[in-house]
Amino acid sequence: MYQHHHFVGGALVEGQSGRLGPIFNPSTGEQQGEVALASKAEVEAAIAVAQGAFADWAATSVVKRARVLQNLVQILYREKDNLARALSSEHGKVFSDAQGDVQRGLEVAEFAQGIPHLLKGEFSDNVSTGIDMYSMRKPLGVVAGITPFNFPAMIPLWMSCMAIACGNTFILKPSEKDPSVPMLLADCWKEAGLPDGVFNVVNGDKESVDTLCTDPRVKAVSFVGSTPIAQYVYATSTAHGKRCQAMGGAKNHMIIMPDADLEQVADALVGSAYGSAGERCMAISVAVPVGDAVADKMVEMLKPRVEALKIGHSMDPEAEMGPLVTAQHRDKVKGYLDLADEEGAKVVVDGRDFTYAMQGYEDGYYLGGSLFDHVKPGMRSYREEIFGPTLQIMRASNFEEALSYPSDHEYGNGTSIFTRDGDTARDYVARVEVGMVGVNIPIPVPLAFHSFGGWKNSAFGDINQHGLEGVRFFTKTKTVTQRWPKGMKEGAEFVIPTLNS
Ligand code: NAD
Repeated sequence: MYQHHHFVGGALVEGQSGRLGPIFNPSTGEQQGEVALASKAEVEAAIAVAQGAFADWAATSVVKRARVLQNLVQILYREKDNLARALSSEHGKVFSDAQGDVQRGLEVAEFAQGIPHLLKGEFSDNVSTGIDMYSMRKPLGVVAGITPFNFPAMIPLWMSCMAIACGNTFILKPSEKDPSVPMLLADCWKEAGLPDGVFNVVNGDKESVDTLCTDPRVKAVSFVGSTPIAQYVYATSTAHGKRCQAMGGAKNHMIIMPDADLEQVADALVGSAYGSAGERCMAISVAVPVGDAVADKMVEMLKPRVEALKIGHSMDPEAEMGPLVTAQHRDKVKGYLDLADEEGAKVVVDGRDFTYAMQGYEDGYYLGGSLFDHVKPGMRSYREEIFGPTLQIMRASNFEEALSYPSDHEYGNGTSIFTRDGDTARDYVARVEVGMVGVNIPIPVPLAFHSFGGWKNSAFGDINQHGLEGVRFFTKTKTVTQRWPKGMKEGAEFVIPTLNS
């Protein structure tokens, strides 16, 4: 059994609260570690350290900051498999998928290497006679990142790389379910040459989150997690005068037009809905075939694929899908499957009793893949996020009806349309009320140089993650108007300056 504590000021710091949370291996169901849960005082101490490190880091030349990012990229490539192994053992996603989790985070570090270019301000020469005007982007100070269990490498890297490259000091409060990767990331940052106190990890729960959202020394909070907590973090942080971006849950629809290549659609759906056991905020969880003929064909093609999913220990190279993250989450997902059944959706494949088929790993948190047909908009199992290995089919009779389902849903994270028709695709892209859209792409996650963020109850706050929006989120603009003595007129002026001079 290992124990994780905190990483503050460039060193491991032992937890003092006396509170510990369990860390499980979801593939076996065994408890493999414990994580310290910080008290308010411990979080405050970390904030003080980050604040102490801020002035020097903000004053470090932008080229030197970029070089730390360059070092980090090299270290992350070297450590990718170690990180992925740790990730897989606590999250339960299969090793190859865990490598992808690290890779997508690493790509934000690659993007952030270009920070000298990204922070270039604007300059206007001679806006009035002898007067120049320029703007620059300044770091905010101490900023916090609060992250979910499902991408323990990617999401901490989204936030920390952008925040730190911009000159801020950073406190990460990772999910208490899989804290090993965040702690390993601290070692990577240190080896990359980051000064002590710039990247800190405070492990904890609500008490830590509340402290970060209310302490006046924290200038911005970046959050990713479930919608109720995202709403809470957004409301609390903004009420305390902070900038906040808070990404929440999802229900992602895939529209299947009759002209689509249905073989491609079936493969795309299976990978997207059941990969990572459905624990992805961009997983397709609802398929919307247009027309009963397409729907019947889809069910016929999906059923054998879902039944044949290779489910196993996350380090089994044959496994396509591992367990769910905790027994509690597995039971919650199971509850939704029961609900869908009670609400009258037709069970095509039932993954609920799959556990009994796991030879040697019966205590792991497994579910089989499930498939429901004839799902209706009023069903609670449709309206709420399930976050498990299940796909719901909602039949639509035409394009307009199909378009209305994702647009009317309270979540608006991702969606996708499969069609060969450019006009239909273009119409869908233009009109659907969702933040990230794929055309014949099942998981349209924007790359590091674009920005990630959903609409409606999938995101609170105006500014997305990474890309140019990440730079905007972690900086504030200062605009300077300058004139030198030679250009000054004599005598006082009492009217507001205008461009007439
Ligand atoms: P979660 O909301 O339970 O936890 C997220 C973070 O909030 C964790 O660090 C946790 O410790 C903290 N937290 C939990 N309960 C809290 C409380 N009562 N008060 C204060 N803080 C609290 O989310 P999760 O289960 O770890 O992650 C899965 C969720 O995240 C899903 O809903 C998924 O859709 C969402 N998600 C969204 C995105 C996105 O970009 N939109 C990306 C990944 C995951």
